[in-house]
Amino acid sequence: MSAETPSIFSKIIDREIPADIVAETDDLIAIRDINPQAELHLLVIPKSADFRDVVELAEEPELLAKVVKMAGDLARQYADGEFRLVFNTGAAAGQSVFHVHAHVLAGPTLDEGKLV
Ligand code: 5GP
Repeated sequence: MSAETPSIFSKIIDREIPADIVAETDDLIAIRDINPQAELHLLVIPKSADFRDVVELAEEPELLAKVVKMAGDLARQYADGEFRLVFNTGAAAGQSVFHVHAHVLAGPTLDEGKLV
């Protein structure tokens, strides 16, 4: 990944393009999705561009756990604490940015899009 063109998320992390940043740590950044699919739709993104998807991120369980923890913190801060955490993995599953990110979806109409 790092040898490829920087992802849109790397450009956001590097402040080359703007985003609505809701949280940031040394390892992670969280932004509002530009095309929200729920009342609350955030993306929690590891700053490292070394992981294409959540399967690769699972090689670093501590970092994966930080993503989950930040998702929970943000769902409590911006919604009622209940949320759906989605990692699209592979183009056929809807992944369009190959720099791992978690979708944090919350809000009263979420059950209308129930997947299972
Ligand atoms: P994926 O389809 O890879 O699971 O998710 C990528 C997400 O990134 C999409 O929900 C899309 O709306 C969001 N996205 C793409 N480009 C931008 C951008 O420039 N800014 C923000 N805030 N979100 C973006």
